[in-house]
Amino acid sequence: MSAPYKLASREHKKEDTVIALPNGVKIGGREIAVIGGPCAVESEEQLMRTAELVSRAGGVMLRGGAFKPRSSPYSFQGLAGEGLILLAKAGAAYNLSVITEAIDAPSADLVARHADVIQIGARNMQNFALLKHVGRLKKPVLLKRGLSATITELLLAAEYIMSEGNEQVMLCERGIRSFDDSTRNLLDLSAIPVLKARTHLPILADPSHGTGFRELVVPMARAAVAAGADALMVEVHPEPESALSDGTQSLHPAQFVEMMNALTRVAHAVDRSILAR
Ligand code: PEP
Ligand code: MN
Repeated sequence: MSAPYKLASREHKKEDTVIALPNGVKIGGREIAVIGGPCAVESEEQLMRTAELVSRAGGVMLRGGAFKPRSSPYSFQGLAGEGLILLAKAGAAYNLSVITEAIDAPSADLVARHADVIQIGARNMQNFALLKHVGRLKKPVLLKRGLSATITELLLAAEYIMSEGNEQVMLCERGIRSFDDSTRNLLDLSAIPVLKARTHLPILADPSHGTGFRELVVPMARAAVAAGADALMVEVHPEPESALSDGTQSLHPAQFVEMMNALTRVAHAVDRSILAR
């Protein structure tokens, strides 16, 4: 086998991996899953309102950070355990699977107990001790590409998780650092077909962190579906202007609905469909 990542490679497994979540959501098949939610869980009211709008618009999963890896120690750090309880409650109320980030081994154990998917953020993509730890947990993991990680490094990070016994791994392109400050990051759309060729794992795109501005999220979500993404993760907030984090890239509720309508058409054009419950 030529690829340095063995278990993650297409050579090792030809068929696409499909990850099945408890409420019937499947990621990696012909149907494209849409994950929506706020950057961070802020309050019960904010999360319930968001879960309702995501489910009404046709999203199948709820996202929201309870442990936030912020650039500044003075920024809102998340509600931690209380946030996980709110996520589980909102997910159950609106029949949405729940994904949330873990930042270290103790938070990963807590996330595994309360959520359906453990998210490893861009900043921890090469936290090898954490990757090995989630590799020993029996929960699907979403691994986000590091800010300056190559595609091969992303696949080797996935291999750390898989080689510990957890083969339920999904990868997410979320933008990489570039010289151009017109966008927060440069969403590397070419990474999607490159990854699809090199690995059998499901590939997600995050046009929110990938661009940093809500006006750019819907066009890049459309482009990611056209490029072959198996799922999208998008930030949406009932009142983005008052969000405690990432308000400028969070969609207004009406924009989330508009995005779902646009994605239905793009998915159809590439012989796929949007997963509905
Ligand atoms: C997130 O999705 O909440 C997040 C912090 O993203 P990233 O790790 O890609 O910066
Ligand atoms: Mn965010």
